[in-house]
Amino acid sequence: MPTYMTAMEIRGIRRDCLDTLRAVGRSQHPKEFVAVLRETDGIIEEFDLAPGTVVTEQSAGFSLGMMPLDVHVAGSAHSHPNGVLRPSDADLRFFGRMGRFHLIFGPPYEDTDWRAFRRDGTPVSLEVFD
Ligand SMILES: [Zn+2]
Repeated sequence: MPTYMTAMEIRGIRRDCLDTLRAVGRSQHPKEFVAVLRETDGIIEEFDLAPGTVVTEQSAGFSLGMMPLDVHVAGSAHSHPNGVLRPSDADLRFFGRMGRFHLIFGPPYEDTDWRAFRRDGTPVSLEVFD
């Protein structure tokens, strides 16, 4: 991993950021959304929707690959409208290029309908800050 991509340790995610991501997932359903997560002082609190956020699973990696590099990129978030809350093979290929934490959301997009993963696909718990 190139050292210029080294960012500070990610400690968690803001609840309002998480809630907004869930709302985006709900509004896009049954289509998928893709977002790039940004941290400030180690806490994920902002995101940018990828260009043309309504994409297929196959094109998601391409869209993320087009995003500019930013040292504050913490990872990615996207939805699996089929409700399978684990990374697909395509997901694992682009996780490695985009930060360290990757969130997957699924219907019905409630409080517990998301999971966090490391870039290798290992599930990880991410603290939620109010
Ligand atoms: Zn996926």
